Amino acid sequence: MTALSIRALSKRYANLEVLKGINLDIESGEFTVLVGPSGCGKSTLLNIVAGLDRASAGTVEIGGRVVNDVPPKDRDIAMVFQSYALYPSMTVRQNITFGMECRHVPKAEQEKAVANVAKLLQIEPLLGRKPSQLSGGQRQRVAMGRALVRDPLLFLFDEPLSNLDAKLRVEMRMEIKRLHQRIGATIIYVTHDQIEAMTMATRIAVMHQGSVQQFADPDTVYRYPANLFVARFMGSPP
Ligand code: ADP
Ligand code: MG
Repeated sequence: MTALSIRALSKRYANLEVLKGINLDIESGEFTVLVGPSGCGKSTLLNIVAGLDRASAGTVEIGGRVVNDVPPKDRDIAMVFQSYALYPSMTVRQNITFGMECRHVPKAEQEKAVANVAKLLQIEPLLGRKPSQLSGGQRQRVAMGRALVRDPLLFLFDEPLSNLDAKLRVEMRMEIKRLHQRIGATIIYVTHDQIEAMTMATRIAVMHQGSVQQFADPDTVYRYPANLFVARFMGSPP
């Protein structure tokens, strides 16, 4: 099944063309990494998929439904950002259940969902703490927990690890990858780091100046880069 289909998507700000006719089809269960240098349009693309920003032209389909005019909360997506965006006055548990609370999910069901996610992410001992009492890695786990309880069709990650130190970043990469395999989630993951792309993706979309230069599995992108930009950016052997 196609989880996400993007057709002829463009975005301009005044006379700056940030996205130039993007086409992308992502199958459910894929771990797609959008990689490219800073300013190439990755976040803009993800925000348009999330409904946080509007396209100038083109369509976005999630789970076979055109969502251009659908508000973010009705898109069946969950997003994790670089900054954790946790509610500082709420406990970890409340941060995770807040969305369910708003949707009036029964308490027992909320408890079960929190228990599942906390176990999966190994944050059970943290449920009673406030965000200020957590390390960066723990906060990012909680942010992921909040996304996971939604059980969305599509997870959108925008550079979720770039605030973490190098060692923790490597650990969290593996953790997110394991999570993907275990729950069979469909993930679109944005990074400017080609190593992160190579180690995490089932398919990589390499972006440059608002266009997708190549969309293929990591091995193909690395060994058979579509052009000089991709070769240089991915550090392909000459
Ligand atoms: P990336 O996430 O790949 O670093 P972005 O999608 O954030 O890139 O930005 C792509 C381009 O769009 C950049 O040149 C940026 O300056 C520009 N841009 C992003 N948001 C706005 C905005 N609200 N108004 C004008 N230009 C913007
Ligand atoms: Mg960005």
